[in-house]
Amino acid sequence: MERGDEKVQLITYADRLAGDLPGLAALLRREPFAEAFAGVHVLPFYTPFDGADAGFDPSDHTEVDPRLGTWDDMRELSTTHTTMMDLIVNHVSSDSAAFQDVVARGRDSEFHDMFLTLGSVFPDGATEEQLTGIYRPRPGLCFTPMTLGGEKRLVWTTFTPQQIDIDVRSAPGRDYLARILERAGDAGVSLVRLDAVGYAIKAPDTTSFMVAETFDFIEDFTEQARGHGVGVLVEVHSYYRRQLEIASKVDLVYDFALPPLVLHALYTGHGEVLKQWMEIRPRNAVTVLDTHDGIGVIDVGPSSDPGGGPGLLSDAQMDELVEGIHSHSGETSRESTGAAASNLDLYQVNCTFYDALGQDDRRYLAARAIQLFTPGIPQVYYAGALAAVNDMALLRSTGVGRDINRPYYDGPALEAALSRPVVRAQLELCAFRNELPAFSGDVEVGLDGSALTMTRRGDDAWATLAVDLASGATVIQWEGPRGRGSTEDLLESPPKV
Ligand code: BGC
Repeated sequence: MERGDEKVQLITYADRLAGDLPGLAALLRREPFAEAFAGVHVLPFYTPFDGADAGFDPSDHTEVDPRLGTWDDMRELSTTHTTMMDLIVNHVSSDSAAFQDVVARGRDSEFHDMFLTLGSVFPDGATEEQLTGIYRPRPGLCFTPMTLGGEKRLVWTTFTPQQIDIDVRSAPGRDYLARILERAGDAGVSLVRLDAVGYAIKAPDTTSFMVAETFDFIEDFTEQARGHGVGVLVEVHSYYRRQLEIASKVDLVYDFALPPLVLHALYTGHGEVLKQWMEIRPRNAVTVLDTHDGIGVIDVGPSSDPGGGPGLLSDAQMDELVEGIHSHSGETSRESTGAAASNLDLYQVNCTFYDALGQDDRRYLAARAIQLFTPGIPQVYYAGALAAVNDMALLRSTGVGRDINRPYYDGPALEAALSRPVVRAQLELCAFRNELPAFSGDVEVGLDGSALTMTRRGDDAWATLAVDLASGATVIQWEGPRGRGSTEDLLESPPKV
């Protein structure tokens, strides 16, 4: 299959789906994955991949965890697939050699300036107003008391106390990030996902989240990345107008409003907000329904700024949406969400997308079809690709909310998943999206009562998706180089070019 940026990509952990990187490459090259996915976002595979935040807390970001493989394996995978990796710009593990040197030698360490403390951002001290004004996705302040070189300090830790925030503008911080970029470029990686980049720049008297200087940082970094032949995807959850502004200034963003709006439309039978979003949403976007994180809701909610604007959904609609996820999942998602299960981000609901749709195969395929008809680079999370249900056993054994949607597969479990009609049908839908040359143009969206239609046109090809949001009934019609086709049942007879 040809490498193509607009074709469907899988997002996955190497270990949880396929054991390791060579295992992942083998899997992606076999039927039915080969036809379904032209690219892959491999979630953190650095040393270690299984720390306090499932790899988002590397102690050595420049090295592949030897239990998963080597950079050569990434390079090899990149010969047949568009590859993407995370670049965790905001923090490193407290176990990293650089931070451990600061713990031992404090201000005498050559890495001292690589890490942020309260004092490095507020050299003259901070007021209560300044500290409470800092944005964090969870309660509490973002400082952890630690002893560095015998001196008590307040270290900046936006996420967990094991994730130490980096001063990305310091000389050792810049050098660190440059080394990771070089590794990515050498391994033939096409895109880096700037993880949690909204928090990367701290500035007194601001929220320290997506401030003016953050845009300068992203611009600078994108320039550097291009020098290594690597593109940049910015990962930020925020108010939708903010997202539109961010999208206008960077190469590529996520469309995180799409998943909650698709659920809202399918729960209520009303597609007005989804249609409105289709009209204004950024085109330079990666689309998702599910990722390794929860289903984000702040992306469709009101602005958190004082006097900020209304959201795409009202507060009451947001509550209904969250309650809708809990009731469709038989209340399992409630056990893994919010303060219930040591979550890093309280604004996300932890649930598989399949459970969020009540394990209804046809509605699930309709949701995926809406995503695949939305302009952008479609990404499908491995648990979503395999229509996984909430993994309560894993949640109970780890106590980590997001594990409900981060299952482990071995060979037999994978074969069992692949034998399910909903899984086969979904992968065929992805193959259809890849093969029909209809998806290059923009989308035309229509709404008549609960009937949503989406049409894409390309070179001598077109495709129309019609979903009755109330009943879930879905029709796809198309015409391409091999003629016309249509299906009224995505589960029993998925579209085939
Ligand atoms: C990642 C999360 C991670 C956080 C901190 C996010 O944006 O997607 O999984 O916990 O960044 O690195």
